[in-house]
Amino acid sequence: MCIFCKIVNGEIPSYKVYEDENFLAFLDISQTTKGHTLVVPKRHCDNLLSLESSLASQIFPIVQKIALSIKEITKAEGFNILNNCGEVAGQSVMHFHIHIIPRYANDSFNIQFSSNSFTNEELNDLAGKIKNTL
Ligand code: AMP
Ligand code: ZN
Repeated sequence: MCIFCKIVNGEIPSYKVYEDENFLAFLDISQTTKGHTLVVPKRHCDNLLSLESSLASQIFPIVQKIALSIKEITKAEGFNILNNCGEVAGQSVMHFHIHIIPRYANDSFNIQFSSNSFTNEELNDLAGKIKNTL
C-alpha cells in the first residue's frame, strides 16, 4: 500500500487540515514554505492522468478553500498550486496529489520556466494537433 493510502487509513500519522468523503488534505512533511499542504483523493490513483474526472472536477474548489485559510493564518502573499505528474516531472509519491505552496517575500522556493524557440508554423501545427486530439 502506498504511503498516502496509509495516511488516508490512519496507519501513518499526518497533520490533517481537511477531510470529506472523497478527499484528505494534510501538511507536507517537507514544509518547503510554511503551510505547504497536500490534497489527495482518498481512493488510490497514480496520477492526474488516471484521476476519475468527477474527482478532478471536485478538487479545485477544495484547493481554493484551503489556500484561503492558509492565507488567513500565515499571511501568505501568494501561492504556487502544483502537481507533479510522472517520475520525469518529479513525482515521488505515486498517489495523485496537489501541492498548495504558500509564497512569502524572500522565501526559498523557486520555479523557473526556461524558454525554447519554435517557429510560428511549428506552434500552429502543435496547437492544431493537440486540439484535434481532445
Ligand atoms: P511529489 O514529489 O510531487 O510526489 O511530492 C511528494 C510530497 O510528499 C513531497 O513534498 C514530500 O515531502 C511529501 N511527503 C512524503 N511523505 C510524507 C508524509 N508521510 N507526510 C506528509 N508529506 C509527505
Ligand atoms: Zn495510494
